Amino acid sequence: MSQQKHRILSINAHPHDFTHSAGTLGIHVEKGDHVTVVSVTSGAFTHNEELRDELLKNKDKQDTSIVNVNIDKISKSKTQELEKACNIFGITDVRMLGYPQPFRVQDFPQSIDSISEIITEIKPTILIMQSPFDRDIRGYTSIGLLANDHAQTALATIEAQTLASSGRTGNPPHSIATTLYPGVYFQRNEYDFIVDVSNWFEKRIQAEDQYISQGHTPEWSKRRMLVGLGEVGWYSGNLYGEAFVRSKAETVSSIPVSDLTMERANEPFEKQRDRIVGSKGRDF
Ligand SMILES: [Zn+2]
Repeated sequence: MSQQKHRILSINAHPHDFTHSAGTLGIHVEKGDHVTVVSVTSGAFTHNEELRDELLKNKDKQDTSIVNVNIDKISKSKTQELEKACNIFGITDVRMLGYPQPFRVQDFPQSIDSISEIITEIKPTILIMQSPFDRDIRGYTSIGLLANDHAQTALATIEAQTLASSGRTGNPPHSIATTLYPGVYFQRNEYDFIVDVSNWFEKRIQAEDQYISQGHTPEWSKRRMLVGLGEVGWYSGNLYGEAFVRSKAETVSSIPVSDLTMERANEPFEKQRDRIVGSKGRDF
């Protein structure tokens, strides 16, 4: 296994999006890799469940302190939620770009420069970014679906990658070795690899708990992780897993087979079953 230290850059549309690979990022922080998490928007205009619920009420029943809440105040609390969630995984380099929503690259072309500057500064070897691919329920992409913050953040990130690697900014050009998309945006038969994050389950729940502005409760957090991480785990013979899709095939010096894949190829079913059940399996 290579002992090279990596610099990992996670670029997200909203504060919650980084969580889809948070266990994996925690593993890399523990290995001594540097991790930077960026949120392009504060998410203040989406996932404000408290405000949404208030607006569903008749006007005379609405709580004006919620309805008239200052957007800067929401942005600030969402930034704090992101920082707290990142800290759970040992991530301290957190950047909030705070572009308004709906985030559209054509409205904020300077976002490309903002991301490019971070790439130039961090010089990441691994980029985890929003998926530029989107699909509707029948599996077809449509231009209409690209009009969302996630796809537009992907677009800005691709442009920023190109800019940072071009040297056009006057800075030394930097090309990122590997680009990955979190598996949550894909079907499971499209995953390239799955990281065993069984030891990070409790921390993933804790991270969900931080997003109070999105209406998360402890019960919600636990259920979401049980189903989300558990589904990937079940599919891959792990207790819990985080999946990834590569932006393109990698060049390798010989056929790669991971240590875990080798180890588990010929293990007794009993051992696999025990791993999938987990030590706390019967508590749930
Ligand atoms: Zn999002």
